[in-house]
Amino acid sequence: MLFKQIIGQNFIKEKLIAMANTGRISHTQLFVGNEGSGNLALAIAYAQYVNCIQPSLQDSCGICSSCIKFQKLIHPDLHFTVPTISPYKQTKEVLADWREALLNNPYINDFQWLQTIDSNANKQGNITAEECRDIINRLSLTSYEAKFKTQIIWLPEYLHLSGNILLKLLEEPPEGTLIILVANNTEKVIPTILSRAQTIKIPKLKDEELAEALEKIHHCLPQKASDIARLADGDYNHAQSLISIDQDGYFDSYSSWMRFCFSGKVAELQKWVDEIAGTGREYVKNFLGYTIQMTRAAFLIKYGDPNLIRVNEAEKQFLVKFSSFLNEKNLDHILSNLDDAIVGVERNANLKILFLNLSLYIGTQLKMAQKAAS
Ligand SMILES: [Zn+2]
Repeated sequence: MLFKQIIGQNFIKEKLIAMANTGRISHTQLFVGNEGSGNLALAIAYAQYVNCIQPSLQDSCGICSSCIKFQKLIHPDLHFTVPTISPYKQTKEVLADWREALLNNPYINDFQWLQTIDSNANKQGNITAEECRDIINRLSLTSYEAKFKTQIIWLPEYLHLSGNILLKLLEEPPEGTLIILVANNTEKVIPTILSRAQTIKIPKLKDEELAEALEKIHHCLPQKASDIARLADGDYNHAQSLISIDQDGYFDSYSSWMRFCFSGKVAELQKWVDEIAGTGREYVKNFLGYTIQMTRAAFLIKYGDPNLIRVNEAEKQFLVKFSSFLNEKNLDHILSNLDDAIVGVERNANLKILFLNLSLYIGTQLKMAQKAAS
């Protein structure tokens, strides 16, 4: 992966290149950034850069023997550790799948990855104690050819207590080793690990950076690109999944849903639930994310700073009316139920039952707020 293949993040790229060129490369680093920020891609590009035989001041050369192997993710001194699901216990058992998934989408998230290795994944992902011991073993061997034998640990959030096995290694890796932890949420990483790594904070992508990428890479028209960028909120991975979805379809579906919830017309609601449940988990998950954004926006229209609202004109018109059914009380309840629903979707809950329950709940909450207001 070359730096120039990664969207935006120019400031971070320059910083990483400068770090590499001081010659004092910290042996344990933590790249922390939101989902879709490119933190994993940046970690790989950085590892490629420090191992490149003839790097420039802007990027790896892309053509030396080291770069060629890095670009295919097959360099013998590039090691990955990623979350797995039973029966898999170690990354090496799913390495071919991982390489393929990563080459296909360097912005991949944990949900997509775990679906790749087990499409019925309702189990929790894990980085096992066996994997941790394997990391120690493989890093204790001398490198084949690289300047830095590199270990990338993607999502140390999944290490839980088995992470303690790694503490000594992270504190003092063997000579010529570079360990990069790539995390989304440091609150979920055990503190003893955090304290042993140098942290590099990767910011969210800016709307302009996202929109530009959508126009260039995906040939979106400018208006659509900026609409999607606004919704994706700095997450390129999310933006990619939004492209394939008809944005107007989202809004239509959402506005109908809220009407059916409130009106309590069971037959119409049932039909809507059947339709949404038939669209598949990835779509449903994105749709629920969209619903959360719309609900927050409606609340901001009523109580907050309208400048913070990230919606288009048609959405705004709907939300102005819809906001009269929201107050401080029911907003929290509705949002936390929507969050729970996303977790349910990820854990393979029955979508029809999930949406029926959620609809009845939202309907009740909306009516209560209206009653309180009148
Ligand atoms: Zn090179």
